[in-house]
Amino acid sequence: ESFHDVDLGEIIMGNITLSRYTRPTPVQKYAIPIIKSKRDLMACAQTGSGKTAAFLLPVLSQIYTEGPGEQYPISLILAPTRELALQIYEEARKVAYRSHVRPCVVYGGADIGQQIRDLERGCHLLVATPGRLVDMMERGKIGLDYCNYLVLDEADRMLDMGFEPQIRRIVEQDTMPPKGLRQTMMFSATFPKEIQILARDFLEEYIFLAV
Ligand code: AMP
Repeated sequence: ESFHDVDLGEIIMGNITLSRYTRPTPVQKYAIPIIKSKRDLMACAQTGSGKTAAFLLPVLSQIYTEGPGEQYPISLILAPTRELALQIYEEARKVAYRSHVRPCVVYGGADIGQQIRDLERGCHLLVATPGRLVDMMERGKIGLDYCNYLVLDEADRMLDMGFEPQIRRIVEQDTMPPKGLRQTMMFSATFPKEIQILARDFLEEYIFLAV
């Protein structure tokens, strides 16, 4: 069992080594090949399982392989809290190190003007909390027309926090590529009815993974 079992590209493999990840965790071992094969995924995994790298490694590898596009962002990651969004962003920066891929993060409770200026410098991978992203969309500061990779992290917590209307506004807006055309990955610690409904609405013939 090693990260070399799947082709993630030289730059990302080098960054895995720099992060001192020697072997994939179980969720990484199973999720990375599924995501690489372009299937939608519903993964039940806890915090601490290595789920962040499980989606960042294959998504960033894919963005990197596709080359620098002109329309951004290519990937959107929704997370329930500022703390989690920042953690995902920090890990994305490590994985994207020495590549052209530029991650950005936006969350509530901080200066929106500064976040908008940061986005305007170019953003391939956007990590966002749902409320702040809706705010940016309403101000016309972010378009998701080219969002080919969508990740909902800690989906059960986002629903517990009452973000379902914002999540639906983001995912179901006209300009977002529809399911089947984008690749969608959902991560959740639990799989209650509400999450099953979101999975039915957002995912296309998905693979279910529980680790
Ligand atoms: P997560 O579950 O994504 O919040 O990750 C929990 C912690 O495990 C983070 O600090 C990661 O940097 C670390 N981590 C993720 N994958 C690996 C790995 N394959 N080997 C060692 N540490 C890892």
